Amino acid sequence: MMDVDVAANLKSVIERIRKAELRSGRNPGSVKLVAVTKKVPVESITKVINEGISDLGENRVQELIKKQEQLPDVKWHLIGSLQTNKVKYVLGKTVLIHSLDRWRLAETISRMAVKKGLTADVLVQVNVSGEETKHGLLPEEVEDFVSEAVKLPGLNIKGLMTMAPFVDNPEEVRPIFKELYKIKQKLAAKWPGIRLLSMGMTNDFEIAVEEGADLVRIGSAIFRGNTG
Ligand SMILES: *Cc1c(COP(=O)(O)O)cnc(C)c1O
Repeated sequence: MMDVDVAANLKSVIERIRKAELRSGRNPGSVKLVAVTKKVPVESITKVINEGISDLGENRVQELIKKQEQLPDVKWHLIGSLQTNKVKYVLGKTVLIHSLDRWRLAETISRMAVKKGLTADVLVQVNVSGEETKHGLLPEEVEDFVSEAVKLPGLNIKGLMTMAPFVDNPEEVRPIFKELYKIKQKLAAKWPGIRLLSMGMTNDFEIAVEEGADLVRIGSAIFRGNTG
């Protein structure tokens, strides 16, 4: 990996988030930055922790568990797709699972959480763009899914997550973020516990902030210096 100034990259990302918050009339600091550490060595991760980052995201269970053993004092988010046979490894180890995308996974998380005497905080992943390669429920499936999933005792649905398609001009994905926001508002009217939106990555996080993201998941802009 090239020599990159992780602390400087992080500062610039935080600055860009602040500006997007202000532009859209949101309170500075209302968006939480989840630093995505996939394929990033622990030495680089330590640099962002030293700069005050408290929340880290991994998309693979094995990598999350390994890094958590070395960095136990931060909050870990699972952001990638989760196999049911790996649920037992992440329960109690993560503050939030961003990728609940099917019924069997909901049942499994709930059953195992109950067995461990805890409730798992989760986001429902929505495939707003409808791309076949993407995980997540289709927008029209979300409400039925949620109305069943809120009955599961070991599950606490905190909001929604989406991944926008990668495009050259991030303005193109604004409608996707707007749509997710609309779906969330509709759900929140019925189930007030549903209030978080996880959306926005290196390529599109400023647009996501402007459209109401509560959590942005950013990797490359911090650890590789991509400007997005
Ligand atoms: C890798 C990843 C991110 C971060 O992507 P960058 O473009 O590196 O910022 C965010 N969310 C998910 C689900 C990811 O897998």
